[in-house]
Amino acid sequence: MAAMGVRAASRAGTDDEMTNHRLVFLGAPGTGKGTQARRLQDRRGLIALSSGDVLRQEVQLGTPVGVEADGCMKRGVLVPDSVILGVMFAAVDRLGSGAGFILDGFPRTVPQAEALEAGLAARKLPLDGVIDFCLSDDEIFRRIVDRRVCKKCGRTYNLSFVPPRQAGVCDDCRSELIQRPDDRRDVIATRLETYRALTAPLIAFYEKRGLLHEVDATAATEQVADVVIKVVEGLDGTK
Ligand code: AMP
Repeated sequence: MAAMGVRAASRAGTDDEMTNHRLVFLGAPGTGKGTQARRLQDRRGLIALSSGDVLRQEVQLGTPVGVEADGCMKRGVLVPDSVILGVMFAAVDRLGSGAGFILDGFPRTVPQAEALEAGLAARKLPLDGVIDFCLSDDEIFRRIVDRRVCKKCGRTYNLSFVPPRQAGVCDDCRSELIQRPDDRRDVIATRLETYRALTAPLIAFYEKRGLLHEVDATAATEQVADVVIKVVEGLDGTK
């Protein structure tokens, strides 16, 4: 099984010249950040580190962090900053200092972003870029209710436009696909409100630092992935 929250890489990056960038993927739930993080991991060998996956694994293992996070996640509200900071820095430290990574779903508040900035500066591993995935609320809603996730490896599908080859079964590991409890209609509205109130201010936060790149997430997965690759290639010469 992959380490906590690290999506299993199906293929390491192939370009020896590529730079191990450190990125943040921002965006409301359902904008396709996780899918794009996985695509970029496959194409560039960066490690996709999903804060939601990290927490779901803690919940599954029944750790003290998992017990604390479980109620918040079910209600669609954020877990306390202190909890998420502890697990995400532990995950980053497990990667080793040479690794490039994509933080997917973290940070989600200004205090988290400030703590991340300070923590990465202390490790001499500053961020190279932040990609904000933009999508209308109607489309977000439609994508989330159709989302299905592999119980084992975390691969995400969409019943309308990224369906599995066999209904209910993961293409990669053949495990069962489930609907996340917080992807139900009643919880989505809370998650979107939380995003607007607490996470959207990070767009200005990273814009001020010259790190922000906006990507229209409306197009099909592969087209969005091509735009993401272009953004990353644009960062290649900057280190
Ligand atoms: P996600 O899979 O990214 O949609 O996250 C699922 C849930 O995990 C969220 O609704 C929050 O309850 C929790 N969560 C994930 N990332 C964070 C974070 N950076 N800060 C606080 N809570 C988080």
